Amino acid sequence: STQIQLIRRPSGRPTPEDFRTVRLELPPLAEGQVRVANEFISVDPYMRGRMNDVKSYVPPFALNETMTGGAVGRVVASRSESLPVGTAVLHQLGWRDITQDDAEAFRPVQEIPGAPLSLHVGILGMTGLTAYVGLTAIAELREGDTVFISGAAGAVGTAAGQIARLLGASRVIGSAGSEEKVALLQDKYGYDAAFAYKDAPVREQLPRHAPDGVDVFFDNVGGDHLQAALDVMNDGGRLALCGAISRYNAERPAPGPDNLANLITRGLRMQGFTLGGHLHHASAFQERMAEWFPAGEIAYDETVVDGIENAVDAFLGMMDGANIGKMVVRTA
Ligand code: NDP
Repeated sequence: STQIQLIRRPSGRPTPEDFRTVRLELPPLAEGQVRVANEFISVDPYMRGRMNDVKSYVPPFALNETMTGGAVGRVVASRSESLPVGTAVLHQLGWRDITQDDAEAFRPVQEIPGAPLSLHVGILGMTGLTAYVGLTAIAELREGDTVFISGAAGAVGTAAGQIARLLGASRVIGSAGSEEKVALLQDKYGYDAAFAYKDAPVREQLPRHAPDGVDVFFDNVGGDHLQAALDVMNDGGRLALCGAISRYNAERPAPGPDNLANLITRGLRMQGFTLGGHLHHASAFQERMAEWFPAGEIAYDETVVDGIENAVDAFLGMMDGANIGKMVVRTA
C-alpha cells in the first residue's frame, strides 16, 4: 500500500517537504476485515488545521503516521459477510491507495448509474451536505432571500449556490478567485452575479452586486469577505460561518471585522458550524438529492489529479485555488 504521511508540522503555507510517501506491506486479512482499493481520495481545507498541533474538533494528524480523510473505493478482498468483494464503500482511511480494516470502518454507498464514485466525497457527500446544512439548519434560508456565497467556485460553494436557488433564493451572488471561475458561476451554476475577489477589495465590489442587500451569507473564506458581508446585510439577516480559508495558512491571527456592531443594530444572527454536529440532516439531504440529481438539476465540477503520489500536490493546489468544484485524487 502506498501511503502519505505528515513528517513535519507546516508553519504557514505547507510545502511538499512536510510530507513523505511510504510503501507498506499489509498483513493478511483477519476475520471480519475487508481490503479496499481506493478509487478517489478527498483533499479538504480542514486537513490544513489537522496539520497543526492544536486542540480542535478533529485531533491533529500524528507525525510519521499515514494521514486520514474521506475516500471511496471498492472491496477487493473480504472476510466479512456484510461487505462482499465488489461493494463500493465510503470511509475515512484516505491518503493511501489500498487499505484494510474491520468491516465497520466502511460504509456501503448507494451507487448511481452514470455517476462517478467520487461524487460521494463531493456533491452527493460531505461537501454537498455541508452546503445544505449551512443554508437550511444554520441560515434558515427563506423563499425570496438574497444569498451571498464566498468561495463560490469550490466544492461547498458550487453546491451551495444551486441548493440556495432550489430552496427558493431570489438572488444568488458569489465570489471566486478568477474571471474563469466567475464566468462559470454565472453560466453553469445560475448565479445572478459574481465577482473575482482578487480584482478589487470585496468591500468595494460586493455592494455593487447586492443593491438590495443580503439576507443570507454563507461564508467559506472569512476575513475581508465576512467584513464586506456585514456591511450589506439586511435587518434580520443570517450569517452561516462554514469556513475561513483565507486564514488557514496564516501564521498569526488577523484582526476581526471592524463592523461587528452591525450584528446588534440590524438584529443579525451569525452562527458557525461543523458538519459533525449536524449529521442528522443527512437523510433529508439525501432525499432532496435523490429528487434533484436524477432530474438533472444539480451541476457539478471536479478537478481530478491522478495518482496517490500526487495527493500532496492536489492538496496544496486546492489550497491555492487550482480546483473548480471538488478536488479529488484518483488512485485506481
Ligand atoms: P474548495 O473546493 O472551496 O477549495 C478551496 C478554495 O478556497 C480554493 O479553490 C480557492 O478558490 C479558495 N481560497 C483559497 N485561499 C483563499 C483566500 N485567501 N481567499 C479566498 N478564497 C480562497 O474547498 P471546500 O469546498 O472543501 O471547502 C470550502 C470551505 O468550507 C473551507 O473554508 C472549508 O474549511 C469549509 N468547510 C467547512 C465544513 C464544516 O463542517 N463547517 C465542511 C467542509 C468544508 P479561489 O480560486 O476562489 O481562491
